[in-house]
Amino acid sequence: MASPRLRAVLDNIPAYRPTDGVYDAVPARPLSANESPDDPLPELRAAIAAAATGINRYPDPGCAGLTRALARRHHVTEDRVLVGAGSVALLQALFQAVGEPGAEVIYPWRSFELYPVLADLAGVRSVPVARPGLASLAERITPDTRLVLVCNPNNPTGAFAGGDELRAFLDRVPPTCLVVLDEAYFEYVRAPGARSGLELLGTRPNLVVTRTFSKAYGLAGLRVGYLVGDPAIVEQLGKVKLAYSVSSVAQHAAITALDLADRLLRRVDATVAERTRLRDALTAGGFTVPDSQANFLWLPLAGRSAEFGRWCTDAGIAVRTFDGEGVRVSVGGGGDNDAFLAAALRWRADGGAV
Ligand SMILES: *Cc1c(COP(=O)(O)O)cnc(C)c1O
Repeated sequence: MASPRLRAVLDNIPAYRPTDGVYDAVPARPLSANESPDDPLPELRAAIAAAATGINRYPDPGCAGLTRALARRHHVTEDRVLVGAGSVALLQALFQAVGEPGAEVIYPWRSFELYPVLADLAGVRSVPVARPGLASLAERITPDTRLVLVCNPNNPTGAFAGGDELRAFLDRVPPTCLVVLDEAYFEYVRAPGARSGLELLGTRPNLVVTRTFSKAYGLAGLRVGYLVGDPAIVEQLGKVKLAYSVSSVAQHAAITALDLADRLLRRVDATVAERTRLRDALTAGGFTVPDSQANFLWLPLAGRSAEFGRWCTDAGIAVRTFDGEGVRVSVGGGGDNDAFLAAALRWRADGGAV
């Protein structure tokens, strides 16, 4: 029997499958999604409860209060800020804004698994560039390239491009091509001399920086992120983004989270200290662990990745496995890091090659 005709590209996109164990009745230790391990601060819970009073009304589509607070925090004018239902919603808006026949999007690879999906959905050709420095990425820009996307620090490897490399790269991108820096993990960066794209915006109208409340600010469940860019670009992207997509509860919570930023970012310091401890212990145990500037570590186990991922699942620990490439493990809290470490060292003792 004939079936409804949907876009053929959908057949090429794998159905989203949550990591084993995360949503089970007895959930695994959650080290697969790079969330904040810390309970929400009481002030944040109170703000969310208070926001419940108004939920019979639509949210402010312009997110005025949150936009103002973000502009103040980053020392930019409000017309440079756009809030979205998670930064991935804003990435989707960016892909759609450039998506027309013949357009091409390029990004370093391996990176965030959503990028090729967003490209397919927007109808743009995606060009993953294997393991480049940013210099070789710039060389791959063609007249058809409308968007260059750099995840910095990179998910899942944790690699970070510092100030000079970043600036030299930005200088090579033609002004007709957008550059998006996905800084979902920037709050975890401790590399000396690190510069956010936010500091480089001034003279570059083609640069857009995305940030999120989902990681360092601990609001993954509420879905709120933002971007900062040139006012003309922000205005156009505002037309692509769905107007009422950021809930009133999320807007209030994000404003409160900014008020609590000092305390929340002190928790990030603790995660960074755990990152160092975990990496040192894994290295001492014989694993190869590249430097990470994010809240996760990357174990490039190549052909043994799936086996190691299964080993962790069997030990009740959810990690993210990239078959044939590596395993990403979030830096968690409570006893989760030690449980992971013990499982990893047991795998080694059991004959796991690294
Ligand atoms: C987690 C993550 C985000 C954040 O997405 P939200 O929609 O804001 O939750 C964005 N980019 C990358 C690379 C991420 O890993």
